[in-house]
Amino acid sequence: MTCDRCGGKSLAYVMSYFTIDMLCFDCKNDEKGAPNYQKAYDAETAAVKNRNFNFPGIGIAPEDQAYFDERVKLRTPPPSSAL
Ligand SMILES: [Zn+2]
Repeated sequence: MTCDRCGGKSLAYVMSYFTIDMLCFDCKNDEKGAPNYQKAYDAETAAVKNRNFNFPGIGIAPEDQAYFDERVKLRTPPPSSAL
């Protein structure tokens, strides 16, 4: 199994607050800094409170996607450049 967001391998996966993607811990941590994290978290928490365990999440807005892309890029070491 690989992470739905970065494609990396991880020993364990957790569900995204934004979508039903299964994420590695790095990506899950990154969500906390996303522009709409609070909104996603609140929506997910409210859904669970209403016993709606199939809540698909609020989705990923373009600004969130840009943030995640940037985070994954920072995490992944760039390919060794030719000297
Ligand atoms: Zn990941």
